[in-house]
Amino acid sequence: MAAANGTHAREERQKPDIDWKNLGFSYIPTYSHVEYKWRKGQGWDDGRLVKEPYMNIHIAATGLHYGQSSFEGLKAYRMKDGKVRLFRPDKNAERMQISADAVCMVAPPPSIFLEACRRVISDNIDFVPPYGTGGSLYVRPLLFGSGPQIGLHEADEYTFLVLVIPVGEYYKGGVSGSVKALIRNKLDRAAPHGTGHAKLGGNYPAALGPVNEAVKIGYNLLLFLDPATHTHVDEFSSSNFIALTSLDAEGRRTYVTPQSESILNSVTNRTLREIAEKRLGWKVEVRKVPFEEVKKGTYSEVGACGTAAVISPVGTIGYEHEDGRIEEIKIGDGSVEGWKALFKEFSALQVGEVEDWEKWGYHWPAEGI
Ligand SMILES: *Cc1c(COP(=O)(O)O)cnc(C)c1O
Repeated sequence: MAAANGTHAREERQKPDIDWKNLGFSYIPTYSHVEYKWRKGQGWDDGRLVKEPYMNIHIAATGLHYGQSSFEGLKAYRMKDGKVRLFRPDKNAERMQISADAVCMVAPPPSIFLEACRRVISDNIDFVPPYGTGGSLYVRPLLFGSGPQIGLHEADEYTFLVLVIPVGEYYKGGVSGSVKALIRNKLDRAAPHGTGHAKLGGNYPAALGPVNEAVKIGYNLLLFLDPATHTHVDEFSSSNFIALTSLDAEGRRTYVTPQSESILNSVTNRTLREIAEKRLGWKVEVRKVPFEEVKKGTYSEVGACGTAAVISPVGTIGYEHEDGRIEEIKIGDGSVEGWKALFKEFSALQVGEVEDWEKWGYHWPAEGI
């Protein structure tokens, strides 16, 4: 039974029996999620922890009818010092504001975003994988219009909730292998000047069918070119495009990633850029990436990056021509040494295994949970 303050008595709870080494990336029930509401004229409430993974939603909620809905994804780690901290949650709070602005929603201020994450992690601390297992607690904030509208108007009530799920390390023991990506001839992820830069629910389901079709013919991911000219690389359906040149005479690589108004500003990509520059001494370029460069072999490695898998090396890109013929482009010689080096530094930073991790200012809260 829920207590007055929304927390439930710990005695009732049975500690989860989780096989930490074999966690995947799928929904697992936890003790609770946290839920806040904003109402016109009242602002944000104080939020509450809710035990049941269900809610009552108005049948005319704009989040259901008109796509006023945005989500985020970030991870909390049990670090080397035994404390649990979120990795760069301020970036996700900022991005939720950008997403909300794109569809006229009211976003929680960063203080509420952070506090909500802290509350739900703290209540579900038994679900945070132990240090050394490679697992983490995946944190999924969601914001949607919960107030009713029948005409096309913004809602006058918004619900912000945060749920958590324990997840395993994507690549057990570091980056290895590679996946195949497909560029479809008549398919765009986002419109030019559209909402591709926002993490909105409505940006994703149109790729579900095409991904299933791609899987049937041996591809794992969809890659999209810029929707206006189809000459530059944009990103994958739910991860950014990143590429590396081979080592130069001084043992350095160049990390290249597209600049485009129709892609999502990935926090993983931003972190990898910092690591490439500051820890590995590589060059970093954020610029338009002509697809021609990929075709003619400018890059020795290509990857997809995002919170869930960090880096997935892409070994082959299939390009579908107008007549349906698929031209296969092989990337480099199949080596993923560059991605391995980056991934190693990235995971060490996330769990505080690098000496100066505190100086990076990427972990929150400083004192841990
Ligand atoms: C979430 C997402 C990413 C990855 O962003 P991260 O902040 O690194 O998790 C990249 N592209 C799209 C389209 C996404 O939805």
